[in-house]
Amino acid sequence: MFNITPTPAFADNYIWLLKSEQNPEVAVVDPGDATPVLERLQSEQLSLGAILITHHHHDHTGGIRRLKAAFPHVRVYGPADEPIPGITHPLTEGDEVQLPWCSDSLRVFEIPGHTAGHIAYAGDGLLFCGDTLFAGGCGRVFDGTMAQMAASLQRIAQLPEETLLYCAHEYTQDNLGFAQLVEPENQAIAARQEATRMMRSQGQPSVPSLLSLELKTNPFLRTQNPTVIAAAEQWAKKPLSGNVALFSALRSWKDRDYD
Ligand code: ZN
Ligand code: FE
Repeated sequence: MFNITPTPAFADNYIWLLKSEQNPEVAVVDPGDATPVLERLQSEQLSLGAILITHHHHDHTGGIRRLKAAFPHVRVYGPADEPIPGITHPLTEGDEVQLPWCSDSLRVFEIPGHTAGHIAYAGDGLLFCGDTLFAGGCGRVFDGTMAQMAASLQRIAQLPEETLLYCAHEYTQDNLGFAQLVEPENQAIAARQEATRMMRSQGQPSVPSLLSLELKTNPFLRTQNPTVIAAAEQWAKKPLSGNVALFSALRSWKDRDYD
């Protein structure tokens, strides 16, 4: 099993580092910046064996070139359908990533929406979901569609409830503020806000998060909840039916009137 720890980058990115017992070779997920990764590898005497990319945005891919220069044999996995220089192992739905120094493998899910070719990496009880699902929220819809994003989130929602979700940004507090606006009476959201405030004040990351907690507190996974539906309809000023319409209203609400 992997040991997984974050390396913070930029203002609020996390570059996840996957290490397996006793082995100096590691993998990193979405290295937007090479500097913190190189510093960490050096201080912990680790060598980079693989880079896993979820989507093409620069804050997830900007470090590839320098990491490859430092570790010329590194394998660079990433979505086949996105323009990402430096990928050596292009991936599509169902592909398996077998890291050579590690017995565990990861399976590829295509979860478009934030971008049109966004992928996630699923392991035993965990998911690296990039900018698709965030703790308490979800990514914006850029070059994918609202329908794709709604379907991708539903797919994540159907994983086992104890799945740990490793997203790529620390956006939890902001997201929970919106969640509370949607569902002011939801006690699980209030409790999570308090817990998150504590973690952040102690400098702890608020991710990974548990899917079971997301299902109770993340409005974008709660589009079947009557309170969420009523709030979205009130914002949209019209009746909404179906998951895509509901999701789309929530996403537009947060984009236009919250952030
Ligand atoms: Zn992104
Ligand atoms: Fe990002």
